[in-house]
Amino acid sequence: MKIRDLLKDSNPHISFEVFPPKTDAAYESVMKATEEIAALKPSFVSVTYGAGGGTSKNTVKIASHLSNDLGVTSLAHLTCVSSTKEEVHRVIEELKEQKIENILALRGDVPADGEFPLPNHYRYASELIEDIKRQGDFCIGAACYPEGHTETEHKKDDIQNLKHKVDCGVDFLTTQMFFDNNILYNFLYRIREKGITVPVLPGIMPVTNGKQMKRICALSGTVLPERFRAVVDRFGDDPKAMQQAGIAYATDQIIDLIANGINHIHIYSMNKPEIAAAIIRNLSEIVKP
Ligand code: FAD
Repeated sequence: MKIRDLLKDSNPHISFEVFPPKTDAAYESVMKATEEIAALKPSFVSVTYGAGGGTSKNTVKIASHLSNDLGVTSLAHLTCVSSTKEEVHRVIEELKEQKIENILALRGDVPADGEFPLPNHYRYASELIEDIKRQGDFCIGAACYPEGHTETEHKKDDIQNLKHKVDCGVDFLTTQMFFDNNILYNFLYRIREKGITVPVLPGIMPVTNGKQMKRICALSGTVLPERFRAVVDRFGDDPKAMQQAGIAYATDQIIDLIANGINHIHIYSMNKPEIAAAIIRNLSEIVKP
């Protein structure tokens, strides 16, 4: 099913994310986690893609298993920064062959060393989106950044670039993680004002490893609200307590989003079915499968 059609439903829905294994040895355990997450009956499951393209075959395989064997709509991520246009075209053909209807079209992070863009490569996700549209009838999602993308100095330029990307053929957007819902509400106000009208799925990250999260936030420029920082400072050294507190914090964010009329929420479940299940349990009277 195309995600743009799922998003027409005004009841609250949750989707999850899994990432493919980097090695073949880890394949079975990722498949097991994927199946447990699929059994929670989310509206869809997204499957990430290595920026270097190295995990592409597993992204297609897992997305295909989800939609063709497990009956759960899948969203295959596709990055283009480190692949030639021909390599990217081949992956799109594979997705078509596997009847995967939804692609999250991304550029990927620019490698720290080396020329950018390389000849015969895409420069921005918007160029990839134009090509996907030429190649098939896909529902296309793209990324957005409520706190601004790190490469663009001014938020208004980032929103202008986002408007161009959406106009190239985006059906919906998924946000980078954020820990203060007011940042999302402000972002939505600003993009709607600029004429970006497609559905936006907030991306919620349940934090289960406080120290790692502080590092990720420092790199991505995500603001750590005082309330969240206190949670990490207090429970960061106790993995079980941090997990419980992280699930509670994420649940609280989700309830606030739904209370404010946002019905489709994406959870960065990171191959952790126990965390996905705990959130679904917490929302059992709010989000019905
Ligand atoms: P773009 O939309 O191309 O934007 C990149 C930068 O270029 C931005 O600063 C933008 O403002 C600027 N820009 C865009 N167009 C123009 C223009 N025409 N002129 C000037 N500047 C412009 N990474 C992975 O490797 N694998 C994944 O599976 C993955 N999944 C993700 C899922 C989500 C929901 C999100 C939010 C991010 C994900 N990422 C993933 C990370 C993403 O690849 C990086 O953030 C990357 O740096 C930007 O990708 P993009 O598609 O947003 O790029």
